[in-house]
Amino acid sequence: MQFSENVSLASMNSFGIEARARYYAKISSVDELSNLELEQNIPVLVLGGGSNILFTQNFNGYVLHNEIRGKQVLKEDDDHIYVKTGGGEVWHEFVEYCISNGFAGVENLALIPGRNGASPIQNIGAYGVEVKDVFYELEAFHIAERKVYTFNAEDCAFGYRDSVFKNKFKGHFLISSVTYRLNRKPDFKTSYGAITQELEKMGVQDLSIRAIGDAVIRIRSSKLPDPAVIGNAGSFFKNPEVSTSKFDELRSIYPEIVGYSLPGGTVKLAAGWLIEKAGWKGYRRGQAGVHDKQALVLVNHGGAKGNEIYDLSEEILQSVRGKFGVDLEREVNIL
Ligand SMILES: Cc1cc2nc3c(=O)[nH]c(=O)nc-3n(C[C@H](O)[C@H](O)[C@H](O)COP(=O)(O)OP(=O)(O)OC[C@H]3O[C@@H](n4cnc5c(N)ncnc54)[C@H](O)[C@@H]3O)c2cc1C
Repeated sequence: MQFSENVSLASMNSFGIEARARYYAKISSVDELSNLELEQNIPVLVLGGGSNILFTQNFNGYVLHNEIRGKQVLKEDDDHIYVKTGGGEVWHEFVEYCISNGFAGVENLALIPGRNGASPIQNIGAYGVEVKDVFYELEAFHIAERKVYTFNAEDCAFGYRDSVFKNKFKGHFLISSVTYRLNRKPDFKTSYGAITQELEKMGVQDLSIRAIGDAVIRIRSSKLPDPAVIGNAGSFFKNPEVSTSKFDELRSIYPEIVGYSLPGGTVKLAAGWLIEKAGWKGYRRGQAGVHDKQALVLVNHGGAKGNEIYDLSEEILQSVRGKFGVDLEREVNIL
């Protein structure tokens, strides 16, 4: 197994940013990984689909591109099917596989870009479902110790777009496999976003996981930019949480503000709404910009540098703080 040197990563990140890897290798098995000789003082980056990364510079270290493939039904019982997948499997292809086989639970997460190995890292979520809802366990190779560990859901400490792999263990592991626990009997989740309206538009009479998956695909395609056409990494910021009193204060000034009450007595605000209200929707400076249909998405109109997008995100952050007194947090991993 050989590293290539000075490799362009432009086609391997959904922002389409030109950044180079000092050393680059595709990893297709754990054996390959354990045989790699890595110099200790050189940094390592595990790369999946590159759909949640913003490169602001070249990566002066080893890029390990996760291409570990494979899907296998591990076990089944009356209620569940346990499917083990290689960390390099493409997430949307896995969703299609589940829908085709009648395995329920991931249909609301259709069309999210990226690989299965990254799905637990930020606990991907959309339309009222998060990957933690179907997560069973994962195997992760500890890069420094060269040892495989198994994590169950509790070990992963899942939160909103968060897990132990974004915090304590950031950069320590390569997630080589993820096992999901899918449901035989679907529990349809249609109340979030515009799913119900879309199903009506589609004329769906009998609800099914296929119909929900199709509705989600139609909604997402209509409002999110396709990275193949315009570089982006989906939502650039997380939706911020504020106290109820802060929410009431904001609502007295902006009666139309959108907020969802959370169990802990806080309120989640829509970051896209705040950014739009602060005047950024459709904004463009050079080749960096804010999408004109969804202000939460920063875009590369073609040839933008990573730090131009980063600087724009910083200005947005400060502008939202200045106008609303709310701090946004970046969801995208900055490198
Ligand atoms: C158009 C668009 C829409 C999106 N919509 C959503 C959405 O609805 N919900 C949502 O949650 N996300 C969304 N995203 C973000 C993104 O798709 C997810 O975060 C996805 O899980 C990233 O997977 P990836 O393989 O591309 O990860 P990468 O971007 O390659 O990596 C992301 C981070 O995880 C690390 N990493 C990746 N793979 C591994 C591994 N196997 N082991 C250890 N570390 C690893 C990387 O080092 C990096 O820090 C969207 C992105 C785009 C472009």
